[in-house]
Amino acid sequence: MTTLFVSDLHLEADRPDIADQFLKFLETEALHADALYILGDLFESWVGDDDPNEHYAWIKQGLRKLSRKNIPVFFMHGNRDFMIGADFAAETAITILPDPCITEIHGQKVLLSHGDAYCTDDVEYQAVRKMTRDPQWQAMMLAKPLEERLAFAEQARAASQAHSGNIDQNIADVNQNAIENALREAEVSLMLHGHTHRPAVHEFEIDGQPAGRIVLGDWYEHGSVVRWDDDGPALNSLER
Ligand code: MN
Repeated sequence: MTTLFVSDLHLEADRPDIADQFLKFLETEALHADALYILGDLFESWVGDDDPNEHYAWIKQGLRKLSRKNIPVFFMHGNRDFMIGADFAAETAITILPDPCITEIHGQKVLLSHGDAYCTDDVEYQAVRKMTRDPQWQAMMLAKPLEERLAFAEQARAASQAHSGNIDQNIADVNQNAIENALREAEVSLMLHGHTHRPAVHEFEIDGQPAGRIVLGDWYEHGSVVRWDDDGPALNSLER
């Protein structure tokens, strides 16, 4: 049996091709999996579980169908959909995981993360991250009318795109020391994350011991999945 991992689908109404591919994935491959882990940025933006956007209804239904077939679905917040809350989790019967989180797959421990917390060279981004992950800030946002939140999300998205365009590409990637420190602290030798949209399998050493980091890709041009069975994890793309 296989455990599946995906991240960075960035689903939005303007990109129905990605949603179609993901819904098909939920109805086919995922239906035969041990579990599905979604490691953040499932949605391009999320302003609160009360958003009645019809596009989200289809995705929620797809997740709920999978959960009802007794396939556990785990979700970790990304930097776009960190406002997904308890109502969404209840509606879809998914389990929200903390970031990072240690789990064991086929007898091997792995540290799961969205990945943005390790982009420590981007000081400006980390300041925004700290603010927006504060429960008090989130409560303040959720108290605003939906329209105001949607307008804010649009602004934040534009600002984030401008920022990404302005910074050095190395700064936007994860910091290797931050990764190694996290693995050391967790006493785990493998990390699986997304966020950077740089799918790859990295091998390195920590204190003389072999260690690794698997990076999931985004779903813009094709899907990206880690399939983990008895033979270990494999990073694959999913053609449309
Ligand atoms: Mn991200």
